[in-house]
Amino acid sequence: MNRRDYLRSTLGGFALLGTYGMSQSLAEAASAGSVAGMTTSLGAGPEQYRLPQLAYSYDALEPHIDAQTMELHHSIHHQGYVNGLNNALEKLAEARDRNDFALVKHWSKEIGFHGAGHFLHEIFWDVMSPDGGGEPGDADLRRAINASFGNFEKFKAHYIAASGAVEASGWGILAWEPFGDRLVVFQAEKHQNLSPMVTVPLLPIDVWEHAYYLRYQNRRGDYVRAFMNVVDWDAVARRYHEARRMLG
Ligand code: MN
Repeated sequence: MNRRDYLRSTLGGFALLGTYGMSQSLAEAASAGSVAGMTTSLGAGPEQYRLPQLAYSYDALEPHIDAQTMELHHSIHHQGYVNGLNNALEKLAEARDRNDFALVKHWSKEIGFHGAGHFLHEIFWDVMSPDGGGEPGDADLRRAINASFGNFEKFKAHYIAASGAVEASGWGILAWEPFGDRLVVFQAEKHQNLSPMVTVPLLPIDVWEHAYYLRYQNRRGDYVRAFMNVVDWDAVARRYHEARRMLG
């Protein structure tokens, strides 16, 4: 994975999430290549965001996550975030061309909403696998989990409780916090509203109703526990190592 891919797939989401709510507009941040204080060249001009292909079929995570939910979630909901993000960026480009920023607040919020949705779903698909579940095999990730949460069982209980208790729609997120070099679990209500502004999401779980309602209805806790059976800990460990290599 090169630097640009890394920024797009991992830090990109982090930067977008992390700068939302600050005064700097995300469009400016993206076009300037400024990522949470780092200045980096993202290469030739901006490109349209695209819906990622899944590495597995829609029914591959059965019975934990059902095929119909996966198809709707990926092809309708995630596609909607991608379209919304591209549209908002286009509208802001038009605003710059016309020097008319009357709607800048609206489109900036749209970027926050659709951008957070897009990047978190990219990670969400990536950290699930039909061969997932169990505990991390990676020694460094295990050590980090033990240091930050006590042990894996305590982490798991914490993650399940936090994700189950997100108010209304949102995400539970295991993230790496680079300043203290520790792992944290936090809740992101909706998803554009995040509390720790500078963290790298490693394991987000989508707890919007569209992520589980067909199979689990109001039993979000059952869905969260089932999710643990499809977590791809190798993917989580890869993200952890990449984040530390780039930012540590
Ligand atoms: Mn979703």
